[in-house]
Amino acid sequence: MPDIAALSAALAGIEQSDDAALLRQKSRDFYWYSPVLKAQLDGKRADLWVRPANEAEVLRVLVAARSAGVPVTVRGGATGNYGQCVPLNGGIVLDTTAMTAPIGITDGVLEAEAGARMIDLDLWARDRGWELRLWPSTKRTATIAGFVAGGGAGVGGIAHGTMRERGNLNGVRVATLQDPPALLDLDGDAAAPVNRTYGTTGVITRVRIPLVPAQAWRDMAVTFADFSDAARFALALAFADGIQKKMAGVFDARLPPFFRGLADAVPEGNALVLAMIAPSGLVAFRDLVREHGGTIVADQDTVAAERDPDATPFYEYCWNHTTLQVLKRDRGVTYLQCRFPFEDTLRAVEAVRAKFHDEVWMHTECVRFGGRTTMTALPVIRWTDEARLNAIMAGFEAEGIGIANPHVFTIEGGSGYRRVPGDQLGFKRRVDPLGLFNPGKMASFDAPETDAA
Ligand SMILES: Cc1cc2nc3c(=O)[nH]c(=O)nc-3n(C[C@H](O)[C@H](O)[C@H](O)COP(=O)(O)OP(=O)(O)OC[C@H]3O[C@@H](n4cnc5c(N)ncnc54)[C@H](O)[C@@H]3O)c2cc1C
Repeated sequence: MPDIAALSAALAGIEQSDDAALLRQKSRDFYWYSPVLKAQLDGKRADLWVRPANEAEVLRVLVAARSAGVPVTVRGGATGNYGQCVPLNGGIVLDTTAMTAPIGITDGVLEAEAGARMIDLDLWARDRGWELRLWPSTKRTATIAGFVAGGGAGVGGIAHGTMRERGNLNGVRVATLQDPPALLDLDGDAAAPVNRTYGTTGVITRVRIPLVPAQAWRDMAVTFADFSDAARFALALAFADGIQKKMAGVFDARLPPFFRGLADAVPEGNALVLAMIAPSGLVAFRDLVREHGGTIVADQDTVAAERDPDATPFYEYCWNHTTLQVLKRDRGVTYLQCRFPFEDTLRAVEAVRAKFHDEVWMHTECVRFGGRTTMTALPVIRWTDEARLNAIMAGFEAEGIGIANPHVFTIEGGSGYRRVPGDQLGFKRRVDPLGLFNPGKMASFDAPETDAA
């Protein structure tokens, strides 16, 4: 058992707590979306919460953790869905939310402290004529480093792909658990070992990401009598290179009734498309809606909505917010993450809709991967049990659909097509030889025999 009192004393002057209620709260994320993860992770808890104010304090925490042999699990906004920031073996939870400063913009690249909320960075950049390329639907609570280390897909993906694409992450500064702990500056491909590795490969203290010129985005809601017409329209929008857009999500008719701010606008039984369109694209967007037989039922200024705590930008019905909107009123559901084939995308969507009609409420998002456009999906799934969930995933895979399983907590088990290329295991061995960063999340490190497989 580590001597937490001695560790705490060694960290005197750094904000910290060992209060049991606070530790319970600071050891959780949104893993409870998954009944499978809920059973595995409920009750896991850190022994000490620390909130360093700067890089020097981060290094002090790491020096103390290393000499005590205590695990360190990093936590940003704690909006992850797979228990990424849940400490499996106790130890320290290192909270980054006191390190929030935007540092500067150089040649269209934003540098910021790791714990800055993405909404704050976007609004800060916007005041300077720029905006973020990508953000998760949790933009209003998630941190920039949490998005790099634990997420990486979302709004903007229809134009820029995911954080996996070379060029969407310019660089990071990362604090290691080497002997002694050190700060490394990593640029370009060299930063890949901290990209989507759940904090197993260091504490990111700074992030550098490319921006794009700011747009006055319009949230647009379009209804269709039929899901397949809605999906065909959304994919046509994704392929319409002349229309500047940031998002296009498609929703089964059973989903809009859960979208509080939109439910009344969507006729019963209609499928819905939610999109974000630049002002310059609105004329062409309306033409495309007309061509596909849709009806625009609502629109709003995206940025005004996200600045207003009482309003809901449409992206908070999209990506994994769709599942949350349903879970708020119906705890009997869960979800999946999958990617449809690049060819015959809509055939694959329809195949699984038909196969699992009652249990799968389809929700797709248009996105680019490696320069090609397709749909990913975060369908809402009626929960029966784990065996049935596995059968549904197998049914998807049989149609050529890739799964990134959100019901496992290891990087390797979950990521599927979302895995970032690079020697993440080799980097981990170098910067964390004792295996103290978020142990249990990088399976290839924790069970070396799987290396040979
Ligand atoms: C309603 C809902 C909607 C969501 N929508 C999306 C979406 O659209 N796209 C998407 O990608 N994800 C989505 N997510 C998941 C999650 O919100 C995002 O990935 C988010 O960016 C995570 O940021 P965070 O600050 O909350 O990270 P946390 O949950 O705090 O951490 C995530 C992981 O990153 C690690 N980490 C955090 N900070 C650091 C750091 N400084 N250094 C090293 N490691 C670190 C943690 O250890 C953990 O493993 C959604 C989740 C919910 C609940």
